[in-house]
Amino acid sequence: MKIVLLGAPGSGKGTLASKLVNKLNIPTISTGDLLRKTAASGTEFGNEIKAIMESGGLVSTETVLEMLKNRLKESDTKNGYILDGFPRTIEQAQLLENIADIDACLFLDVDKEVIVDRLSGRITCRDCGKIYNTKTYEGTTCECGGELYVRDDDKPEAIAVRFETYEKNTKPLINYYKDKGILKTVKGMDDPMDTFKNAMDLLSCEQKGN
Ligand code: AMP
Repeated sequence: MKIVLLGAPGSGKGTLASKLVNKLNIPTISTGDLLRKTAASGTEFGNEIKAIMESGGLVSTETVLEMLKNRLKESDTKNGYILDGFPRTIEQAQLLENIADIDACLFLDVDKEVIVDRLSGRITCRDCGKIYNTKTYEGTTCECGGELYVRDDDKPEAIAVRFETYEKNTKPLINYYKDKGILKTVKGMDDPMDTFKNAMDLLSCEQKGN
């Protein structure tokens, strides 16, 4: 099954994806993660990408698509995958159609106030990528022992730009996938486990062809 996961920055896509991965036995492909690896490479190209990401803007579609195509060549994607962070524009969605038949678009619907509150306290493990929030976690290291840090794009100035970018470029994808008849809207719940269960219900309807 090939799934596009759609939602505002901080809506909990990564958390939901990690639960779906275990259940569906397919990998998550996060273009943000792929880009962060390149950004950390220290090359000139990596530094260019890093600057764009830190600003909260979008990296060029050409660059992201190339990375995605390479990732999709790996054998673990043969039974499907969950795309987290791609497509982010209508243009990217159209280009995706040339390389994949998407079965479902899962839209994670979370109120903006909840998201802003969440993002402003978000800390991420430098080693395993696990996300915590300073409001609910008092530790200074991850459970894996890794250092916790505030991602540059989780700083207030960048959060505002990411939202604007989302509203302008990515939100139109909701109607795009609705028109294609494959949109499944899951309301983000306080407990991530509830969100996950609702998402699974919606996806099994999809598998049965409902
Ligand atoms: P994410 O981890 O999905 O929040 O992505 C972090 C950052 O990576 C975004 O703010 C963008 O700068 C960049 N990025 C991720 N996916 C894409 C994409 N599909 N197109 C353009 N830029 C992207």
